Amino acid sequence: MRKKIVAGNWKMNKTLQEGVALATELKDILAAEKPNCEVIIGTPFIHLATVSELLKDSIIAVSAENCADKESGAYTGEVSAAMVKSTGAEYVILGHSERREYYNETPEILKEKVDLALANGLKVIFCIGESLEQREANQQEAVCKAELAGSVFHLTPEQWKNIVIAYEPIWAIGTGKTATAEQAEEIHAFIRKCVADVYGAQIADETSILYGGSCKASNAPELFGKPDIDGGLIGGASLKAPDFKGIIDAWK
Ligand code: PEP
Repeated sequence: MRKKIVAGNWKMNKTLQEGVALATELKDILAAEKPNCEVIIGTPFIHLATVSELLKDSIIAVSAENCADKESGAYTGEVSAAMVKSTGAEYVILGHSERREYYNETPEILKEKVDLALANGLKVIFCIGESLEQREANQQEAVCKAELAGSVFHLTPEQWKNIVIAYEPIWAIGTGKTATAEQAEEIHAFIRKCVADVYGAQIADETSILYGGSCKASNAPELFGKPDIDGGLIGGASLKAPDFKGIIDAWK
């Protein structure tokens, strides 16, 4: 059975003190009422060590939101996969559309990041998804397939076990505009088929594919009710514990 997951992506929000307060609130809420899915929080680099220590004995896993495409050395301001791993974080989010768009992360750069993350024992939440223009031109399938082929389809089946895919239509991220559950299911099924074409039906069946884009407590049950949607990657609604818990509860 593939894992059901709800993952938060705090992006560039929360000071260290605010992040610790949010992680503590979430830990307490989920200790009182066990979730029916894996819960991950993606935090800025500076929070990772403190939040990982805080959540050490909890069911919440911690993720970075990025890592460098180089192993180590003279790359001022960068943070390597090994450094992320050393904080106690288990995951790293790679390929987010904001990184692709604002920081010019190409499929080749992302391939390097994925390889380094896996080599350093991190699991990867790999984001793919089309822009509004591409959706209007009905190119969503071609875009998703190319993004997978460009950065993750070179992995071995063994490495693939540590990959979670997040389908995030760019037009739905932070816009309040959610893909309908039918639209999301259609492309999730397509993504699973692409995975099956490369790795076979069994591995595809075991791959978790998350939906991201204005997911909230009110639309999560319908989205997560679809057979190929295994949870969500959550931006805005992961910044308040009750909102995030509302999405986690969709798995009840
Ligand atoms: C995201 O950026 O990963 C995301 C899904 O954001 P939001 O939930 O705010 O649309």
